[in-house]
Amino acid sequence: MDAKPILETYEEWKRADYAFCPKCGGPLGRRSIKASEPDRLVCQGCGFVFFLDPKVAVGTIISLDGRILLLKRAIEPAYGKWVFPGGFVDRGERVEEAAIRETREESNLDVRLVRLLNIYSYSNNPVIIIVYVGEAVGGDASAGDETLEARTFEPDAIPWHDLAFPSTAQALRDFLARGDRSFRP
Ligand SMILES: [Zn+2]
Repeated sequence: MDAKPILETYEEWKRADYAFCPKCGGPLGRRSIKASEPDRLVCQGCGFVFFLDPKVAVGTIISLDGRILLLKRAIEPAYGKWVFPGGFVDRGERVEEAAIRETREESNLDVRLVRLLNIYSYSNNPVIIIVYVGEAVGGDASAGDETLEARTFEPDAIPWHDLAFPSTAQALRDFLARGDRSFRP
């Protein structure tokens, strides 16, 4: 079955995530590889299948003296909104190490991961977010990379209307619902 050329119209080109094969530079087209799965981007030159995989992100909720550490984002998306420390997992990196690394980079805090809180994913959103509960073991919380401000909030003072992402609110609700309010590192 021939792949449908993606560049037939400008509208199709705009919708396409990628137009050219990363291996040979040939045009990519959409083709059904397996009936039960979405169409894939397939190179019409060399047949390379360009899988658009999910992105994996990690986050860590840290309680400091009963207050929750949140960071004000200094980057888009969600510039100026509050989120717990986190970021993307690098290829080949363990997710736990990514959570510890991102926390250190963004908040200058060294953490030990206490447990997995939950995993969050959404339809038509490529990002999967793995959220841990962490305990501070060193450093002082302050604004690091990509952060305007680091601040701790009482559980009843969390800025629910100024949180960065749906997963931010969902994870904080899960954290508080599980009776972690008393959690004090
Ligand atoms: Zn190719």
